[in-house]
Amino acid sequence: MKISVIGTGYVGLVTGTCLAESGNQVICMDIDERKIELLNDGRVPIYEPGLEELIKRNTAHTRLTFTTDMASAVRNADIIFIAVGTPPGEDGSADLKYVLDAAREIGKFMNGYKVVVNKSTVPVGTGDKVRAAIASRTKHKFDVVSNPEFLKEGAAIEDFMKPDRVVIGAESPKAIQLMNELYAPFVRTGKPILMMDIRSAEMTKYASNAMLATKISFINEMANICGILGADIDSVRKGMGYDKRIGFEFLFPGVGYGGSCFPKDVKALVQTAEEHRIAATVLKAVEAVNEEQKKMIFRKIVEHFRVTAGRKRPPGKKPLAGRTIAVWGLSFKPRTDDMREAPSVVIIDNLLRAGAEVRAHDPVAMNEAYKIFKDRIFLAGDSYEALRGADALAVVTEWNEFRTPDFARMKKLMKTPVIFDGRNVYSQDEVRKLGFTYYGMGRR
Ligand code: NAD
Repeated sequence: MKISVIGTGYVGLVTGTCLAESGNQVICMDIDERKIELLNDGRVPIYEPGLEELIKRNTAHTRLTFTTDMASAVRNADIIFIAVGTPPGEDGSADLKYVLDAAREIGKFMNGYKVVVNKSTVPVGTGDKVRAAIASRTKHKFDVVSNPEFLKEGAAIEDFMKPDRVVIGAESPKAIQLMNELYAPFVRTGKPILMMDIRSAEMTKYASNAMLATKISFINEMANICGILGADIDSVRKGMGYDKRIGFEFLFPGVGYGGSCFPKDVKALVQTAEEHRIAATVLKAVEAVNEEQKKMIFRKIVEHFRVTAGRKRPPGKKPLAGRTIAVWGLSFKPRTDDMREAPSVVIIDNLLRAGAEVRAHDPVAMNEAYKIFKDRIFLAGDSYEALRGADALAVVTEWNEFRTPDFARMKKLMKTPVIFDGRNVYSQDEVRKLGFTYYGMGRR
């Protein structure tokens, strides 16, 4: 099939590449000239495991091309995906500017029947707005489809190629048939293509992300209660998880959720609910717990140094003045360079405000980190370099390379061997035996 994808970010680039890999002719279009130039140069603007290799293979076979030309992207496609951003507006609602701009542009260049598929995460009812925006610019027939994306950054290719399910909101039989054909190669393992109405498809995406965010805030709250009461969240989590109704997935305590999806999608759903006079009590609590959780590790650090200093802080002196804190992990989760809404940003901002110096390392997000922090923190070339002279280490993102470090080497490099393990990646008994002071999240 001839496909175009409008918006070549994390979702659009993965979608376009995977659809090319399954034999379609795909044009990826973006208004960002620099991005398209990079891609046409054979370089990939984001870090996503396995993506570069797939792009190379499909561009070599000319099944995948990149352009900034909307007219050719629209004219040369039967199915057009919209995969542009839907960032939060000032009131938290999803800003549909980019989606509707893209829809109007699609309408403008339409030269025959097209299926326009919205892959961006959008509030219920956006399908109607997209339809109206296209219709305002064309007399040609078209169908609008909702096809929310569930890929996880860091495992995006695997998720797209082998989805747990494909959700399609469509009304016309022709569009339903085309979408079934397009996705058939991705559901050979028997996973379902769920056909539903457009509004339900749009809502499915928000409900799924809200549920996942809820699980994270729930387990974080349990961890905080465990920490105070002398119970151990790891044992509690296991004890809960063997109950089939609960399960183990997505129940790991940490430093709060971040990324480009959960925070904005929970906010957008709260906003939609409130617009319709529904209280969204659970969702608001999920957000509030998350905001607090992002500060938790910082509070533990301040408390540790307050207690160990053993004397009252002179008035006016910042609580972490003269302290150097090493931070391992900056991206909002492992295997991505994405730092949008990353808890590391809140943690580091708080550390700096409290007077600490920060030495940080991330395996792939260093360029993104530099854009945010510039010279306010020291970006270390490797994880050990970040530890040089540090009073403590905060593990913020659980990259594999941080899981089994050389503790003896760490101890030599640090001024004092103190670990704040924001992801509970270490065995606290082992680390303590090696002479470290250890703080986990909700551990005994
Ligand atoms: P992104 O910011 O990485 O990419 C969006 C791209 O769209 C940018 O490259 C931008 O230049 C381009 N763009 C904006 N307006 C355009 C226009 N009029 N024409 C052409 N290109 C245009 O965003 P993303 O992370 O890929 O997210 C896209 C959508 O998918 C969002 O709604 C998001 O919520 C949703 N989503 C994201 C993920 C994720 O993990 N990132 C997962 C599922 C769903």
